[in-house]
Amino acid sequence: MSADDLLARLRGFVGAQGPVQVARHPVSAPAIADWCDAMGDGNPVYTDADLAAKSRHGGLVAPPATLDIWDRPGLPAQARFRPVAKAPADDPRSKVMRLLEEAGFVGVVAVNSELEIARYLRPGDRLQNVQLLEDVSEEKKTALGIGHFVTTRHRYTTADGEHVGDLLFRILKFRPGTGAAPPSMEGARPAPDPAPSLRPRPGINRDNQSLFDGYRAHELRIPRCQVCGATFFPPTPRCATCGAFDIGYTIGAGRGTLYSFNVVHHPQVGGFRYPLPVGLVELEEGPRIVADLVGVEADQLQIGMPLEVEWLDSHPALVEGATDSRGPISVPQFRPATPRRREETLSAATVQDGDRLPLWVLPVVPTQIVAGALATRDFQDVHHDRDLALQKGSKDIFFNINTSLGLMERYVTDWTGPEAVVTALRVRLGAPAYPYLPLTFAGSVQTVDADTGRAVVAVQATNELGPHVTGTVELELAP
Ligand SMILES: [Zn+2]
Repeated sequence: MSADDLLARLRGFVGAQGPVQVARHPVSAPAIADWCDAMGDGNPVYTDADLAAKSRHGGLVAPPATLDIWDRPGLPAQARFRPVAKAPADDPRSKVMRLLEEAGFVGVVAVNSELEIARYLRPGDRLQNVQLLEDVSEEKKTALGIGHFVTTRHRYTTADGEHVGDLLFRILKFRPGTGAAPPSMEGARPAPDPAPSLRPRPGINRDNQSLFDGYRAHELRIPRCQVCGATFFPPTPRCATCGAFDIGYTIGAGRGTLYSFNVVHHPQVGGFRYPLPVGLVELEEGPRIVADLVGVEADQLQIGMPLEVEWLDSHPALVEGATDSRGPISVPQFRPATPRRREETLSAATVQDGDRLPLWVLPVVPTQIVAGALATRDFQDVHHDRDLALQKGSKDIFFNINTSLGLMERYVTDWTGPEAVVTALRVRLGAPAYPYLPLTFAGSVQTVDADTGRAVVAVQATNELGPHVTGTVELELAP
């Protein structure tokens, strides 16, 4: 079939409505709790019935980001793994997807998801949606490969016909292996290898041996005079306050604030990533320590920002199978401290346009990718099966869009406090969120209206491949 014939057949479905898709089970408290666990969302209005009863909701509600998960058809209809034979889905998007797969467009990624919330869902609600196939794009060249964007709109109601929300959803179906070739490195100086074991080993001597012994045990040992109690850094043989030689240590909590910083561009040596932000970190206990800053871009650094330690085992005992007789070395680095969830809902009167949310660095591990996909009832293999993800042109499993959306919602509502009401969530996905690439969430207030309490918060979550999520959360703060 020629590309034109294929496009004509695909576009034959544009404007078509699917059958009513009815959820197999009602919205339920256990499924809400699983979602909250996967996102790390501690908002009590989702899981604490007593507290929720006293809230503006008057009882437990489901996180708004879950609008489109409840009527998903489940494992047999979604995965290649089909324990039970089942008739193929006959909604227009499924038909378009099958045509595209037969034509070799087997890769799939979600690109946009926009949820508009008419009211929060509650346990017991029976959900359904009707799908409208809005558009199939012509063949496009994308970084992932040649493909077609498929856009659907979904109207969500309860079984009684009450409108609860809407979704605009766009995916890209692409041919693996047809993406942009990586830029040619010919003539370019290769970037230094960032493997930490290539770093120069620190000079360890009798004065700082105890410090490095502590680092190896992931203890931040702060030298302390046993006579006058002064703490200081780095270790010295003699107390600068009282002159005593009796120096012990106290173990720091690993928290501090950014006192000053520098960003190193040159010279570049192996073992580091550049540009390299280096901070002077004022520890909670008082002394200041120089350390690399991770999970934060140079333009996101702010004096006074809260930081927490992240240990780097820079020289493991075993490197690529060879034992290093000089022993392992660990060093402290600092990343933005995990923001605390606000207990009292923020009032719009105290918020201004341009206010920045604290940065949040999320370590991304396979368990969270899989847990997020399952908690959002998404059984697409690229979110849990690395072999199939590789076959489909991906480098590894990656967050499904509902997890990215859920984490964005958690990030913003942790900042607003528990009773802000989310009215819309809009995301565009860019670079995939693969395991072991930490995601840094940054946000700022786009607009806020002190009279109505309405606010729009812009969010970007970035990993070393680039922006993963670019989106907005629209909500109503406390008046
Ligand atoms: Zn002293």
